[in-house]
Amino acid sequence: MIVMKSTATEEQIRHVIERVESVGARAHLSQGEEVTLIGAIGDREHVARLGLEGAPGVENVVPILKPYKLASTQLRHGEHTVLEIAGSKIGGSNFALIAGPCTVETHAQTLATAVAVRDAGATMLRGGAYKPRTSPYAFQGLGLEGLRMLADAKAQSGLPIVTELMDTRDLDAILEVADVIQIGARNMQNYPLLAEVGRAGRPVLLKRGLSSTLEELLMAAEYVLKEGNEAVILCERGIRTFETAYRFTLDLTAIPVLKELTHLPVVVDPSHAAGRRSLVTPLSLAAAAAGADGIIVEVHPNPEEAICDGPQALYLEDFPGYVEQVKRAAAVAGKVLAAV
Ligand code: PEP
Ligand code: MN
Repeated sequence: MIVMKSTATEEQIRHVIERVESVGARAHLSQGEEVTLIGAIGDREHVARLGLEGAPGVENVVPILKPYKLASTQLRHGEHTVLEIAGSKIGGSNFALIAGPCTVETHAQTLATAVAVRDAGATMLRGGAYKPRTSPYAFQGLGLEGLRMLADAKAQSGLPIVTELMDTRDLDAILEVADVIQIGARNMQNYPLLAEVGRAGRPVLLKRGLSSTLEELLMAAEYVLKEGNEAVILCERGIRTFETAYRFTLDLTAIPVLKELTHLPVVVDPSHAAGRRSLVTPLSLAAAAAGADGIIVEVHPNPEEAICDGPQALYLEDFPGYVEQVKRAAAVAGKVLAAV
């Protein structure tokens, strides 16, 4: 990583970028308020041949020691990334609340949920049209029809849409409606899929794999970032442990640890960790107070009739009260739930 002097001119910055590219590495420019950094991403021998120490405008050249280069805190000198997604901010002091059904089922269900969660203060709508199900015999999502329902819900509610992509063949259809592409826990290490969403340039919500370490999560994010897509949100959604009293163990420690390791925003999914409704509010409050940049939570107008994940879905009528509690918990960590 090349740290530029505060007095470096545009021309000197351009020259360094050209030099980086001339050795076959990729230059990654990061212009913060106080410091300009140029990451040189490439194999070790190429980068070693840069010879930029002492070049005009260059303060110094430092190696990024972590295996994940673009995701590391070092790249941004400790500043945290704030993303703006269709007018809705996430990161820094901006808390995002992403709410909606596990899966899109009907027009009425999707619209009712979208309008109700928006009125209660949610900043984005979630809902899957392509569902990663453990059983191949379970409902797999409505596919294109589901995407059309999400498009209508977006038009009617004004909320940005978060929806899952599982197969690169569905990318173009997903890009028509998704403001954020969700990569599910089971696909966290699907490297061709990660590279493809990296190239697509749309913000990505990357869920931690069921048994993945934080370093593996960050390396997966690196696959997206490496393609030039800087808009990655990490999601802790519970990991598999020896405990069987609930669906997964929500790793709250991951929140402050990720904050140390990466500049990327970190959200928490209490629904899939909990597996049941009664745990969703306490886990959400703990996550918000621990400094998460947002929550992605399942909500349904009629959870008893939900096709999937009904037992963990919040009732729509309970959602406004839930939002008030989450706002207070986020405030403990100095974050504000921004209105859309
Ligand atoms: C989901 O968000 O609906 C989902 C399937 O989550 P995960 O990939 O975390 O299991
Ligand atoms: Mn679900």
